[in-house]
Amino acid sequence: MTTLLIATRNLHKVAEIRALLGENFRCLTLKDFPAAPEVIEDAATFAGNATKKAVELAKWLASDSRFTVHDSRTLILADDSGLEVDALHGAPGVHSARFAALDKTENSKDADNNAKLLRLLKDVPLEKRTARFRCVIALVEIIPHSAFRAPHLFDGTCEGQIILAPHGENGFGYDPLFVPEGCAQTFAQLGDAVKNQLSHRAKALAQLWAKMVW
Ligand code: IMP
Repeated sequence: MTTLLIATRNLHKVAEIRALLGENFRCLTLKDFPAAPEVIEDAATFAGNATKKAVELAKWLASDSRFTVHDSRTLILADDSGLEVDALHGAPGVHSARFAALDKTENSKDADNNAKLLRLLKDVPLEKRTARFRCVIALVEIIPHSAFRAPHLFDGTCEGQIILAPHGENGFGYDPLFVPEGCAQTFAQLGDAVKNQLSHRAKALAQLWAKMVW
């Protein structure tokens, strides 16, 4: 069975990816590789960051014979994602995870990011609070005893709107503020099953599933 290493420590992302692809792979995450290097996400685009995460992890794994899998195919999946708000000219974008503390490299708390977003949008009427989640997935195959192939990239977008106050308990990040197009509730109210049909990540994973030769 193909091994899929999901290059994140975000358990919400892992759960979403597992729910959509899990049955078809032996899934591992960065929690299984505590010594894996921390990748600095300093690229200007989601594609750049996703590629950087996948390639740096692939290099690290390929250089360590303990982790080289000899008898099965190993793929590394890295996603970079975030929220683009039109009234903020696309911010927070690639800075979504550390929006509340942009000068730092570590991530901010979701509640602080959401509070900052609401503060910046306080004078913007509902109809102008259009936004979208974007996700780019980079998939790299590890070739035993050699390097790895160039990453395949897949992207997904989910259009919606930022509401006036947080609602709902499910999901993570900006989910309590984001109402996807065609819905009356936030991702945090709609829950995992609905989110996994509509989300940016679900769309990128559907592309990956459709286009890859397994
Ligand atoms: P990264 O992809 O781990 O660099 O971080 C992406 C950041 O974007 C997260 O920390 C969240 O703040 C936000 N984000 C990405 N995807 C979602 C989502 O599905 N729901 C809510 N927030 C998200």
